[in-house]
Amino acid sequence: MTDSIPTPRRLAEIASYHAHIYFDSPASRAIATELRGQIAARFVLRLGRWHETGVGPHVAPMFQIAFETGLFATLVPWLMLNHGGLSILIHPNTNAPRRDHLRDGLWIGRPRALLADRLPEWSDAPDEAGEINTQPEAGVEI
Ligand code: ZN
Repeated sequence: MTDSIPTPRRLAEIASYHAHIYFDSPASRAIATELRGQIAARFVLRLGRWHETGVGPHVAPMFQIAFETGLFATLVPWLMLNHGGLSILIHPNTNAPRRDHLRDGLWIGRPRALLADRLPEWSDAPDEAGEINTQPEAGVEI
């Protein structure tokens, strides 16, 4: 299905981004643990907590990263090179969560199913990146 684009949307709609990093076996959880540590050592962002079962629209276990728009150009290519075979959904946060996740996101690795009916169509305020909880290590190259 294609959409007509009557008026271009503005980048200012994007308050932040999420990366959802999925795992579904002990082996892939070990990779996710390693990746989480590598991300924390390199990038200033907010690492969300582990979800060991599906939550919201996410069918598989995962953890979430929330990050400022300015980090996209370094974090996303780094994840492309270092996802270790895991599935990662990157999506913008605007005031339309369903569209953000289902239509406007991008996948690194194998795309996963999402439960559309668990996502509100609209929200009053888009998710901000939130409070930073990582402290990159000096001298670690990106
Ligand atoms: Zn998200």
